[in-house]
Amino acid sequence: MTDFAKDLLAWFQEHGRKNLPWQSSPPDIYHVWLSEIMLQQTQVTTVVDYFNKFIINFPTMTDLANAGEEEVLTSWAGLGYYSRARNLHKSAKIILSEYQGVFPTSYSELIALPGIGKSTAGAILSLACNQSRPILDGNVKRVLSRYHRVAGYYGDSKVLKELWRLAKYHTPSTQNAEYSQAIMDLGATICAPHKPLCSRCPVSKNCKANLCNDQASFPQKKARTIRPEKSLAFLVYRNFKGHVYLAKRPNKGIWSGLWSFVECEDNKTAISAAIKEHNLEARIVSSLPKFKHSFTHYHLWIRPIIINSPGLEKGYHNINKLALGLPVPVKKIISLLDSSNPAKSNE
Ligand code: SF4
Repeated sequence: MTDFAKDLLAWFQEHGRKNLPWQSSPPDIYHVWLSEIMLQQTQVTTVVDYFNKFIINFPTMTDLANAGEEEVLTSWAGLGYYSRARNLHKSAKIILSEYQGVFPTSYSELIALPGIGKSTAGAILSLACNQSRPILDGNVKRVLSRYHRVAGYYGDSKVLKELWRLAKYHTPSTQNAEYSQAIMDLGATICAPHKPLCSRCPVSKNCKANLCNDQASFPQKKARTIRPEKSLAFLVYRNFKGHVYLAKRPNKGIWSGLWSFVECEDNKTAISAAIKEHNLEARIVSSLPKFKHSFTHYHLWIRPIIINSPGLEKGYHNINKLALGLPVPVKKIISLLDSSNPAKSNE
């Protein structure tokens, strides 16, 4: 066992996180899998509530496999990166049909499931089955980049290959559940992105970045790119009952499979053409202030336009009884609507 692994395991006994809701003895692989998928792009503090809610809605993998996609997306709404939820659902169906509902525990079977990459497969198998598998999530990349002063941006394939080599090198042949949890915990609680707590770090004496006092330089960052900005108008059609028109988005692209308002370019011609196409009787009532929603690759400016749309009912939903998967900006706009008066917003 490397000194790094030994020091980490000793630290874990006293300081590791052992009471997260998906940690049980013996481990429940369904819970571990679910938590790992949720944690792929989201921090533990946010995941805990979503995990607890998800487990109440889908107590077993069979419940998840038998649920409708809408139900799954609704439980996921707010966590973002919705392809994770769809892949989770698809995987549960595959496990039910091809593995009789028993979660596979071989690496090759696991990696073939939708949404499970190398690091997630390693995390599931080490945490739930104590298999000796390396992991390389964002926390681990940061710890190893600093510990070894790995030069270059980890999105580059050569750098990534080197980090995987180091991850394998340090992964012990025993105590794998503890080791994987320990290295993730170290990255999350001590070797933080900004201001790492090196004085409390169990591997500080051999950490090259600490010895060179240049921790902030690792992992090296990608050359900065400025995110472009786009603008859209969201057409908030409300009928005589105050119900709003929502359409299910396609299964590709942003907010895929969620329910949203009709959208169009934010200019007079596009807005008036879209309104005519929806309902010739519809009339603009007001416009809410523009707001910004940021994606990884661009910022989206959204202008909600409240429109009175008489005569229509199909596709319109009662905003007090919505049970649909909604993107965050749509939820935000709905929260601003006056639930009783179609012609008004609360702003
Ligand atoms: S010594 Fe500091 S930089 Fe090195 S692994 Fe520990 S917390 Fe991270």
